[in-house]
Amino acid sequence: MTGFHDIKGRKPLKNQLKKLIDKGRISHGYIFEGPKGSGKKLIADAFAELLFCYNQKGLETCKTCKGCTGYKEKYVLETEKSISVDDIRSLVADTELMPFGNNKKIYIIHDADTMTDQAQNAFLKTLEEPPPYAFFMLTVTNSEQIIDTIRSRCIILYTGVNTKQEVLEYLEQNNPDADTKSIYAAACFAEGCIGRAADLINDQSFIQCRKTAVEYITKSQLDFDVKDLKGDVLVFLEILQSLFRDMLVYKATNDSSNLINTDISDIIKRTAERNSSKSLLIAFDSATKAAEYIKDNVSQSIAIGTMNIELMEELNIW
Ligand SMILES: [Zn+2]
Repeated sequence: MTGFHDIKGRKPLKNQLKKLIDKGRISHGYIFEGPKGSGKKLIADAFAELLFCYNQKGLETCKTCKGCTGYKEKYVLETEKSISVDDIRSLVADTELMPFGNNKKIYIIHDADTMTDQAQNAFLKTLEEPPPYAFFMLTVTNSEQIIDTIRSRCIILYTGVNTKQEVLEYLEQNNPDADTKSIYAAACFAEGCIGRAADLINDQSFIQCRKTAVEYITKSQLDFDVKDLKGDVLVFLEILQSLFRDMLVYKATNDSSNLINTDISDIIKRTAERNSSKSLLIAFDSATKAAEYIKDNVSQSIAIGTMNIELMEELNIW
């Protein structure tokens, strides 16, 4: 059973939830907003368990009351594509049925920001006059995609992310066979999202792309042929952007603690010191443009070739 003890860090979110519970500020609608891979599902599950319990102690359930031990009516709506009005209609139909044993029914809608306008309007009607036993939790990456009339009826909670240290500890505990370099690379690039880090650590394409991207900024770029890349070219470009972004941050702040790629901060510093902010910005834009071209179906070798030439003219790598 998921509980808040399973969720590392996230003090601001936990404090906010504790306050809501202590003050008895229970709403029928909650929106959990946070980046992809930041554990929104775990958080919504843990919060649902808490709402079922009659004797919560802080953010933990008592595990013995009728709410904890009885049948829990929890419904999860999760779709591959966007959430359609029909998906919402079947959920709404279910809300009209009285609960069985427990006195609550909890509905979790994942990626609710993919609800179509029609779906949102259908959901709004239920949220305006919810049955007393129905509670709704929406997980979203961007709450601005949700119409104001839904948002104003929900408590919006930002889930936050984990510190790099927490991500590292998680990866070390759960990947005893992974090498330190891969653990570091995944932890750095996940930007505080444990779910993303867990995906990256086993993603050979990511590991290869990062290795190639680091070589790219330390060696002559014109030699680079996209055909030799063992991985997804868009992942490679995303990593490259993060490296140029780090150089710009270091250049502006002289501080390496805010870098994404802290494990290679020596390379970031060295390259940043040899180049002007203007050149680094052009390099960042160049990698961004290459990714846009590829998404627009420009051939990969033309997009990367153009970037190679721009960077060769602009950057002082050695
Ligand atoms: Zn309980």
